Amino acid sequence: MSEFSLIAQHFSRHQATNDIAISVGDDCAVVDVPVGHQLVICTDTMVANRHYPSDTPAHAIGHKAVAVNLSDLSAMGATPHSITLALSLPSYDEAWVADFADGLYAICDRYGVKLIGGDTTYAPTTAISVTAVGYIPKHQAITRHGAMVDDVICVSGHIGSASFALSQILQNQPSQLRDKLDYPEPQVALGQALRGYAHSMIDISDGLGQDLGHILAASGVGARLDLDKIPCHTLLEHLPFAQKYQHIINGGDDYQLCFTMNKEKFDQFQANFPHFSIHAIGEIVADGGVQLFEHGQAVAFDIKGFEHF
Ligand code: ADP
Ligand code: MG
Repeated sequence: MSEFSLIAQHFSRHQATNDIAISVGDDCAVVDVPVGHQLVICTDTMVANRHYPSDTPAHAIGHKAVAVNLSDLSAMGATPHSITLALSLPSYDEAWVADFADGLYAICDRYGVKLIGGDTTYAPTTAISVTAVGYIPKHQAITRHGAMVDDVICVSGHIGSASFALSQILQNQPSQLRDKLDYPEPQVALGQALRGYAHSMIDISDGLGQDLGHILAASGVGARLDLDKIPCHTLLEHLPFAQKYQHIINGGDDYQLCFTMNKEKFDQFQANFPHFSIHAIGEIVADGGVQLFEHGQAVAFDIKGFEHF
C-alpha cells in the first residue's frame, strides 16, 4: 500500500467543516482563529519502548498520543481544536494502523478535536509525534510563572497510579491500574474552568515533584507539601513509605493537573465547580525548594522525576 492510500484509508475521517477551510489532502491545513483569541500550540512525541511498554495495544497508543497533547493544552487553560500527526513506522501493518487510528479518533471525537494533517514516513522504530492546536481568550493562558506566596497548591485526581501500573508491568505482573497508564484522561474541562482562578498550572507528566519544581523555578518561590494530603488510589495507600512516594512524587504519566490559587479563589472554585475532584496538598512559600511533611512532621525524600538524557 502506498503512503497516500494509507492516509486516504486511515487518516482522512475529518474533512473540512465550519472553521476548518482545508483539512487532510492539501499541503497545509487552513483554520479560522476566533476573534479575541490566541492560538495555543504544543507537540509531544512517543517512541516505542521509551514512552510505552512494547506490548501496548495500538488503540491505546493512538489514544495516548492525543491525550498527552490535550493534557498540555489543558495545562494552559486552552480549549483544544485540532491536531496533526507525524507517524514513523518500521513496516505497514494494516491491523495495527487501523487499531491505532480507532484509538486516536475515539479521543479526538470525545473532545471535538479534528485531525487536519500530518506526515507519514518509514523509520526503523515506531515514533508518533502529535502537534495540537487550541485557543484561549487573549491573555488568559495559565502559565508556570504565576505562583504567589500563600497560594494553595492543588492537584486533580489520583497521583502515582500510572507509575505503579508501569512498575507492575515491568515485573511481568498483571496490573489493575493498567488503564491509568495506557488510557490517561486529559483534564480538558478542569483546565478551562481554572481560567480566572489559577495563578499557575502544569500537567503532571514527569512526576509531581519535578513538575511542581518547574512552577517553583519559573515563579521564583518555594513550596511546603503535605505528602499525606496527596490523593492516591487505595492500592498505593499501604505501600512502604519509600515505594509509595517513589510513585506519587517521582512517578510520571498521570496527566493530572497541578496548579496554585489563592485561598479565597480556591474556596470559590470548589463552591462553583463541586464536580471536579481537586485536592489542596500544600502551600507556596517564599524560600526556594520543596519542604516535605507527613502528618505535620518534616520528612526527607529525594525528588527525582523522569529525564531523557
Ligand atoms: P506533502 O508532501 O505536501 O508534505 P504529504 O504527501 O506528506 O504532503 O501529505 C498529504 C496530505 O496528507 C497532507 O494534507 C498531509 O497533512 C496529510 N497527511 C499525511 N500523513 C498524515 C497522517 N499520518 N495523518 C493525517 N494526515 C496526514
Ligand atoms: Mg506539499
